[in-house]
Amino acid sequence: MQRRLLILGSTGSIGESALDVAAALGPSCRVVGLGARRRWREMAEQIRRFAVHDAALSEDDAAESLRGASLNGTRIRGGARALVELVEQTDADFVLSAIVGAAGLPATLAAVERGLTIGLANKESLVVAGSILMPLAERTGCRLLPVDSEHSAVFQALRSGRREEVRRVILTASGGPFRSWERSRIENATIAEALKHPTWQMGPKITIDSATMMNKALEVIEACWLFQLPAEQVEVVVHPESIVHSMVEFRDGSIIAQLGAPDMRTPIQYALTYPLRADACGERLNWSELRQLNFSAPDLERFPCLSLGYEAARRGGNAGAVLNAANEVAVEAFLEGRIRFGDIHRLAARALQTHPLQSDPTLDELLACDARVRQEVRQWIC
Ligand code: NAD
Ligand code: MG
Repeated sequence: MQRRLLILGSTGSIGESALDVAAALGPSCRVVGLGARRRWREMAEQIRRFAVHDAALSEDDAAESLRGASLNGTRIRGGARALVELVEQTDADFVLSAIVGAAGLPATLAAVERGLTIGLANKESLVVAGSILMPLAERTGCRLLPVDSEHSAVFQALRSGRREEVRRVILTASGGPFRSWERSRIENATIAEALKHPTWQMGPKITIDSATMMNKALEVIEACWLFQLPAEQVEVVVHPESIVHSMVEFRDGSIIAQLGAPDMRTPIQYALTYPLRADACGERLNWSELRQLNFSAPDLERFPCLSLGYEAARRGGNAGAVLNAANEVAVEAFLEGRIRFGDIHRLAARALQTHPLQSDPTLDELLACDARVRQEVRQWIC
């Protein structure tokens, strides 16, 4: 199978891993387009390495610099709509959606509208607008393949039975760097401590989300949309080794798990080669080094963000958009040293409590809600 791949967020952690996978897959995967925000030097290198003919940077200045990097024959778009236009006009058949945050929604939506196959890493798109994206994908014939390791694991495990035989999905969580810390110590954790993830190398936003366990909260909502399940059928279990990537329990009590080394190249590759498999380019699990696999229930008192995810999933409507927007602003403020670690949860909880619930929002209403919550939370921080 030949893939023509467009990577949105190519300069990020997932984007770079995807390029490794593309290189390993060789001629069966051609990179035809790249999109990102501003790191034009990295993108210039990627364009040269993969002879890419279509690229976009959402920051105009960066796009201008990229045009000056003498990349003959590459079309370079710049500006806020550049990535959407890239998706609208690409000759790719597979779009890897790996921008961080709700900023990834417009380009992901454009790929869904075109009915392209999507490898979805950008979970925030679904958290904000799953109610728009999922029915639209159904109409356009767009295939949404999960790239998030937990959801890829569930997707693979689901091949063991029929949908009506599924009892529940069990998402594993590493527990992050503060898994065994006291609540008071977590409250005042520093930026450096929060950025030190024990098992995964990732971009800064998702690393902080893992430390608060908001990442798992967003993943619960993501799972509800991807697998069309109510929140009660999505459970979370803490598994610090990050070897069991997630599980599906069927009605007969059988639990099917997917295991592997914690290496995002594996789920990225699976999405790209699906429904086939290719030789691993990521790390393989070394059983002789594996001592034990531990599991425990999450502690919702020390990691209250997880409860907010369940609350937003149950409420539906615009609740995912509210939670996500508040979290994005709070994480940014924490990374800038303007709030304490414990404030991230308080701001997200306050947004969810105070923002009016809208039960069947349109896309425009969701985008307006996202903007309003960001503005509100910024005011609370000042
Ligand atoms: P990152 O910060 O390393 O990279 C983000 C990418 O998005 C960069 O290429 C950046 O240029 C681009 N970007 C950011 N804002 C943009 C904008 N406004 N317009 C255009 N491009 C923009 O992030 P990451 O860790 O690679 O995560 C990307 C997504 O994948 C997130 O949604 C994250 O939750 C998800 N994810 C990541 C991992 C991981 O291991 N890193 C695992 C599972 C899911
Ligand atoms: Mg994940």
